[in-house]
Amino acid sequence: MTYLFTKFFLQDGVKMATALQENKTENKSLQERINLLHLKLSAANEEQIKNKIGVNFIEEDEDVFSPSTTNFFREKIPSDDAVSATTPPPTRSERPKMNLNFSREKKKSERTTAIEKQLSELSKKAAILAIDGQKVPFTIEDLEWVEEIGSGTCGVVNKMFHRNTDTTMAVKIMGRTPIMEEQKRILMDLDVITRCNDCPYIVQCYGLFISQADVYVCMELMGTCLEKLLKTTRTPVPEPILGKIALFVVKALQYLKDEHGVMHRDIKPSNILLDEKGNVKLCDFGISGRLVDSKAKTKGAGCAAYMAPERVEPPDPSNPDYDVRADVWSLGISLVELATGVFPYRGCRNEFEVLMKIMHEPSPSLPPNQGFSDEFQSFVNACLQKDLQYRPKFQALLEHPFLCRYEREMTDVAGWYSNVTTYV
Ligand code: ADP
Ligand code: MG
Repeated sequence: MTYLFTKFFLQDGVKMATALQENKTENKSLQERINLLHLKLSAANEEQIKNKIGVNFIEEDEDVFSPSTTNFFREKIPSDDAVSATTPPPTRSERPKMNLNFSREKKKSERTTAIEKQLSELSKKAAILAIDGQKVPFTIEDLEWVEEIGSGTCGVVNKMFHRNTDTTMAVKIMGRTPIMEEQKRILMDLDVITRCNDCPYIVQCYGLFISQADVYVCMELMGTCLEKLLKTTRTPVPEPILGKIALFVVKALQYLKDEHGVMHRDIKPSNILLDEKGNVKLCDFGISGRLVDSKAKTKGAGCAAYMAPERVEPPDPSNPDYDVRADVWSLGISLVELATGVFPYRGCRNEFEVLMKIMHEPSPSLPPNQGFSDEFQSFVNACLQKDLQYRPKFQALLEHPFLCRYEREMTDVAGWYSNVTTYV
């Protein structure tokens, strides 16, 4: 198997990465596999710094795209099979070809072209804003920049004002690069976000604009993400608020799985948004993965710190797939961080140490005697079961007493939000 990251390692670490890859996965020790994952994540970070956007470790041979039902994505990106099916068979008179193994390069460039084509098709259908049932054609010149509100692995998010509709929105701008994996990531983000406007727990998309250089995703403007909130307030989030957050995130994840057959794969406080109305919504679908028989078959980098043990060290290395319970783990880690105000695997010098702790230390839990309810502690313990067979899926989580309680109880998320954001 060839992972994309190897090409970033031509000097330091390359020997190790190559040697590890040459070995059959089955023979790798846990230590080696953790090293390998660490190298991949470091490579992502390096590349991210170079490109100002991140790299997704989708295996080159894998196609993360689902046959999409969105208006924007009617045509599927051709798979290798589809590409070769359109190639005319060789005629008898043709001289036998030498097997120089260029086919892989060719397929890659064909795929890149297909993704480019997909984006330019999209650009024809895009450029319409749909806000509150009203459809308005727009160009990027109609948007006035207000301020930058976020940036991450995939691009920059700006607050922008649309004059014609008098709407202030969040616009995520992702640079178009020749790197195929980047383009896939952008398309995945667009694909999911444009299909989920019927879910109240996923950030709403108003429309897209695609220029030669960039892709713009216009979204409803939320207040902030939980990561920024924690950084600015430096105060743990109260349990009743976390009850509502957990409930809405689980509902969003269940919706993604049931309605669209995808899992998020990057659940963490920076991808959970809040607003002054008390809404809680998921964003950032760049590395979401299509589920086949309820399992993710592609890698998708995600963030090491929130990564489930079965993604770090698959129980069956010859069949390293995982399911939605990996997102349940990430939710558990996020809840511990938000409830205590500190990241549970703190004090690590690098991602490698985090990965080692995930594998070798007991799962994090809520500290006893700090006033957390039994239900909350039990919920977090369920999310952070290292052994998959004991970690519940979404329906079981929704039936857990902690979520049942916050399904019933009124909690003033809006009031709390306005309090904590007023005094920072
Ligand atoms: P990336 O893929 O780069 O991580 P995200 O979609 O997660 O991109 O956006 C980066 C940051 O921008 C988020 O962590 C959040 O702080 C902010 N952000 C994203 N979307 C919105 C939105 N609709 N409203 C307000 N802030 C947003
Ligand atoms: Mg993000």
